[in-house]
Amino acid sequence: MTPYLLDLCYLVAAILFVIGLKALSSPESARRGMFYAEIGMLFAIVGTLLRHEIVQYEWIIIGITVGSIIGALMAIYMPMTAMPQRIAISHSFGALAATLVGIAEYHTLNGQIETGLMAALGFEVLFGSLTITGSMMAFGKLQELVKGAPVTYRFQNISNIALFAATFAMFVYLIFNPASSIVFYVMIACGLAIGVLMVLPIGGADMPVVVSLLNSYAGLAASATGFAIQNKVLIICGALDGTSGFFLSILMSRAMNRSFANVIFGAVGAVKHDVNAAGAEEKTVIRYTPDDVAYILERAQSVIIIPGYGLAVARAQHALHEIAGILIEQGVSVRYAIHPVAGRMPGHMNVLLAEANVPYDLLFEMDQINDDFQNTDVALIVGANDVVNPAARTKKDSPLYGMPILNADQARTVIICKRSLGAGFAGEDNELFYDKKTMMVFGDAKSTLTSLVQLMKKEESDVKSAA
Ligand code: NAP
Repeated sequence: MTPYLLDLCYLVAAILFVIGLKALSSPESARRGMFYAEIGMLFAIVGTLLRHEIVQYEWIIIGITVGSIIGALMAIYMPMTAMPQRIAISHSFGALAATLVGIAEYHTLNGQIETGLMAALGFEVLFGSLTITGSMMAFGKLQELVKGAPVTYRFQNISNIALFAATFAMFVYLIFNPASSIVFYVMIACGLAIGVLMVLPIGGADMPVVVSLLNSYAGLAASATGFAIQNKVLIICGALDGTSGFFLSILMSRAMNRSFANVIFGAVGAVKHDVNAAGAEEKTVIRYTPDDVAYILERAQSVIIIPGYGLAVARAQHALHEIAGILIEQGVSVRYAIHPVAGRMPGHMNVLLAEANVPYDLLFEMDQINDDFQNTDVALIVGANDVVNPAARTKKDSPLYGMPILNADQARTVIICKRSLGAGFAGEDNELFYDKKTMMVFGDAKSTLTSLVQLMKKEESDVKSAA
């Protein structure tokens, strides 16, 4: 009975993972997708606990309890803006688990390992070990515990490729000589070193692409673990993780108009553009107040809102939604333009706006809305910078050059809410701040938008009482 039940649990888990992943491809169904995946994971865990190899449950219960507490605390207390580093550290743990399982299995089999199994074990520990340290480095860079800028030195790519080739040679050697435990452990040490060296030359802005690539490696390591310990759900789940992570990395690179190889080997972001350098200070901007913005918004017929990373930092999505609601009530056409790389992780703005219950039909992807800016009264930019920076179209030496941007500059009036003239993630000055039709409103997005809500509500009640 139990083996059938186990297979049934794994089958249900695998189906739920596939359906969940499919549902994650749209903001509308993403929550449902997460729910399916969670239930799938529950089935996978219950199925695994039914395995007859398990003779004692004490340590498993302790592990599940400790892991659940840590996971819950991370989910509750880690801010949304720290999500990329949270994901990076989770991959590191996942890869550590896969590597430890691989080492334990190698140890148990004591060198008596057939070729196919050794290939799976070797792959598992090699990709597992480089993902452990690579993800930790990504975490350190994103959390600013280590220098975020790319660290480069002479012959870096060549020496990295040579180290990888030597490590891969050890992997092949082990397949035919599985009893060479020294080679096995040296290969793991080299894998750990590759993880560090691979992430060193990659800049902070490109880190989410790397995190997603490491996600893919962790998935491949998990899949190999599945082959090594004959666990079907791990094979399926790891393969899904591996391929989806890989595709996501490619899609993110494409959205930044960069080749995948350029992200991994390009060391982009080594030189930060100094926005306070001569030239920038000669330009002038006019400082507007929330009163001025309320005046303009209430007289507009169409508004496109552009959210960016600063909206997430300020946690101003609820106030923004309130403003949109007031405007819609007044008959203004309000839409949100979502740039594919706005924020710091894929879908960041979708998740943020969903948190404030912004209806999905108000959200438009860049390609759907970009031609409409020219017929729009106001582009309201909240905490976004790089995704509307015209340097991406014109400035060939800019790190942004070539990235498709939202055509906010084509709207009749541009309102920008941010704290200063400071640059965005790419470190590039933004000409749009100095444009004659731009109204800069300085301050934390939440306090600016909250004042705006109060002003608009007051105006509304004044109009009602006058009528
Ligand atoms: P951004 O260019 O990083 O600009 C965000 C702006 O928000 C900053 O200029 C900052 O200006 C402002 N800000 C910060 N805190 C604020 C607060 N409390 N209140 C108001 N404003 C605040 O953001 P973006 O336009 O969303 O562009 C995203 C960037 O990240 C792109 O370069 C993209 O390539 C990169 N990236 C994204 C992903 C992804 O998956 N989404 C992945 C990799 C890289 P002040 O300091 O003046 O306030």
